[in-house]
Amino acid sequence: MLADGAGMDDSRPEERGRLIDGTATARKIRDRIAIEVAELARDGVVPGLSVILVGDDPASAVYVASKERACVEAGMNGSTIRLPADTTQDTLLGHVRALNDDPAVHGILVQMPLPRQIVPDTVIRAIDPAKDVDGFHPINVGKLLIGEEDGFAPCTPAGVQELLIESGVNTLGKDIVLIGRSNIVGKPMAALLLQDHLGANATVTICHRYTRDLASHTRRADILIAAAGRPKLVTAEMVKPGVVVIDVGINRVPDATAKRGYRLVGDVDFEGVRPIASQITPVPGGVGPMTIAMLLKNTVRAARMQSSRMRSARGAPVEAV
Ligand code: NAD
Repeated sequence: MLADGAGMDDSRPEERGRLIDGTATARKIRDRIAIEVAELARDGVVPGLSVILVGDDPASAVYVASKERACVEAGMNGSTIRLPADTTQDTLLGHVRALNDDPAVHGILVQMPLPRQIVPDTVIRAIDPAKDVDGFHPINVGKLLIGEEDGFAPCTPAGVQELLIESGVNTLGKDIVLIGRSNIVGKPMAALLLQDHLGANATVTICHRYTRDLASHTRRADILIAAAGRPKLVTAEMVKPGVVVIDVGINRVPDATAKRGYRLVGDVDFEGVRPIASQITPVPGGVGPMTIAMLLKNTVRAARMQSSRMRSARGAPVEAV
């Protein structure tokens, strides 16, 4: 296979409605990561991720618990610092600095959203870029944009790219339309897809809330990636036959038949679009599981890079990362 994907199988536009199974793909990646972690552990390095959770937002608590579980399952160290909602910014920054200085911690993640008294950008900038496994520090954002590969890409767009590669979807020269331009999904997704390597080399269009005639863009898409946070934003009339659809959206819609009174849906009218698409991700079970797999992957890379740096500082031979 060529590095830029030129030798890859093309997705088959004549095929219809095949599910892209994010849960199974994430499982495969997590199994590979567990093997890598065991190898590193034999060399005395146990990758460690520390998450800081401020406040008692129930959704954040669920995310953080699943990140911690995933770390432990992969044989890594996963710990969470839980702080009360009235924590000051200085106190939080103190915790970040302590984690920056702790050699057993290779990855740091501060769960968003943060309470009002804390400025998220200040906290993100305080994280050592070498431990910024969320990929939000400006140093890592810049590295991603210029295609320097020793930084960290944000986990959700990295997961989408991996999902495309693992599903055999060729992106080379394809028209990819993104809906959403946030710093955590849309913009880094565009940066990843523009690079000159496998799973990229696409012609990328970014749409957002002020885009005129959204459908005129989405109808051109060979691959459509929706990350707007709007249920049923993408309907059957807005896509062309054979399109590959990646639905990043996670929206709660009321459902009296569901135990919790709501169910999760994406941004795409799944039932309407599936028969037209060649491949499509479900929600849940599409992009979501990939995000955690990428977090583990970034943390293992961070551990490798940091231990290699320490070895070279001690004058020992450096292994390739
Ligand atoms: P955001 O609110 O920060 O950004 C939404 C973007 O969509 C904005 O750039 C906005 O301009 C655009 N938008 C909104 N309405 C639009 C419209 N009608 N037409 C065109 N563009 C429109 O959200 P985000 O943090 O980027 O998240 C987007 C969605 O992805 C949310 O549903 C979120 O829950 C989900 N998400 C999922 C994962 C995952 O792991 N699966 C991770 C992050 C975010």
